[in-house]
Amino acid sequence: MAEKQFILSLDQGTTTSRSFIYDSDFNRTAFQQIEFKQYYPHSGWVEHDPETLWESQIQTARKAISEGQIDIKDIAGIGITNQRETTLVWNRDTGVPVYPAIVWQDRRTSAYCKQLKEHGESENVAQKTGLVIDPYFSATKIKWILDNVPQAKEQANQGKLAFGTVDTWLIWKLTKGVKHITDYSNASRTLVFNIRTLEWDQELLDLFGIPKSMMPTVVNNSGLLAETDPSIFGKSIPITGIAGDQQAALFGQLCTQPGMAKCTYGTGCFMMLNTGKDIIVSTHKMVATIAWKLGEETTYALEGSVFVGGALIQWLRDELMFIKDAVESEVLAEQAKDSGGVYFVPALTGLGAPYWDPDARGAIFGIKRSTTKAELTRAAIESIAFQVNDLMEAMSQDLVNPITQLRVDGGAASNSLLLQFQSDISTVHLLKPTQLETTSLGVAFFASMGAKQHTIASIKHKWTIAQEFKPKLDAKLVTAHLGNWKEAVSRSLGWASSTTEIGE
Ligand code: ADP
Repeated sequence: MAEKQFILSLDQGTTTSRSFIYDSDFNRTAFQQIEFKQYYPHSGWVEHDPETLWESQIQTARKAISEGQIDIKDIAGIGITNQRETTLVWNRDTGVPVYPAIVWQDRRTSAYCKQLKEHGESENVAQKTGLVIDPYFSATKIKWILDNVPQAKEQANQGKLAFGTVDTWLIWKLTKGVKHITDYSNASRTLVFNIRTLEWDQELLDLFGIPKSMMPTVVNNSGLLAETDPSIFGKSIPITGIAGDQQAALFGQLCTQPGMAKCTYGTGCFMMLNTGKDIIVSTHKMVATIAWKLGEETTYALEGSVFVGGALIQWLRDELMFIKDAVESEVLAEQAKDSGGVYFVPALTGLGAPYWDPDARGAIFGIKRSTTKAELTRAAIESIAFQVNDLMEAMSQDLVNPITQLRVDGGAASNSLLLQFQSDISTVHLLKPTQLETTSLGVAFFASMGAKQHTIASIKHKWTIAQEFKPKLDAKLVTAHLGNWKEAVSRSLGWASSTTEIGE
């Protein structure tokens, strides 16, 4: 058997840190995960403790190595994938963060984003970065830290502070501060990276008041990118792949050709479409982003995200106590033949693409005396599909060819009722792969290519289909559903701004 046959994938997510070990055929040899604490210091704020992110990640890696009884010298490379946009700032000399990590979901910079839009910055930002101005992306979070943490601005101006997304933070830790790097996919989510010139954009850095010295060096998604300090695992291991979670999933689904698309149904839902060498600046509020850069070739993607997807099922479980676990949602929903005319708009944290309305709030329409728990649950599941369909419709309007096929993954993709309804209302063919952990698999692909174990060609046959879903709902019913959904959404937009908030 060949030496150096394993890849260690580190998948630092929003709620868990996970480590996977794959053999050279991408069979999973070991897996460990740790769930960590979320902090909500104020309404709309979400933070993580940077040391916990690191500690939980490294612990799962060490445990996976011992679970798989892996000799460190047999690990050919490490792949790192991460929750994107989440923002950390630390002191370069001490390595100590100046503030907790501000998580992608955090809305504290909403008012500032609104001001920027009112000042007419949207077009320039979209042309350069492919993104829309929204608290979701990193730049306004960096600015918030510099403006609100005592002495942060002075220290930043003296070159003493470093910014990083979670990939950068983990690599800083793994290399003991030797490498301050990120990859193109993560860089393209910061709102200050020019996706055309492939450089940090000075004009945008100035707009947000971020000194360039804070920014990491941007590297390819695959290659010999860094080496871990020998003290971390006992021996040094090369880091050979990095990618933001959704881009990693796109690669893990082997959507390597233009026109291929995937949707991940997790806490939120993330749809991404490979647009090849073309940057499509959306006229329908999707975002253009870098999928990956391999060698000299940059591949772009179009992306849309839904903030509350599977999270709605968690809400049914934890707050309404309709179900004991997420799997039960499908069993309960199956008890109703349809949603009984109920439409659930899960704008619990506002609405993301294509609405981008932070003031929308959740609403349930069409409740009657006869409405059952099963119908409400079915409506909740269907709302996930409606939101993804909105993304698909918006993307299709930016494209020459319609999307006819969608590869799916994520925790909620285990719900067949959801996937069938998606196929029905979007009249699209859904393909679910055997390996649903496409994020960690995708970065394992990058890492194995970087370690020269594999090429794209040799990876191709590693993707296999477990299940397919084809549309079968009557066309008239589809039209009625879509019309009703649009009406429901229109009534929940702007709720927070046109009503008086009670309590915090
Ligand atoms: P993330 O990576 O965003 O943490 P996962 O991909 O692990 O999320 O998926 C977890 C989400 O999927 C949770 O929000 C959970 O409620 C939802 N989920 C899991 N199983 C099901 C199911 N059978 N039906 C609907 N939702 C589900």
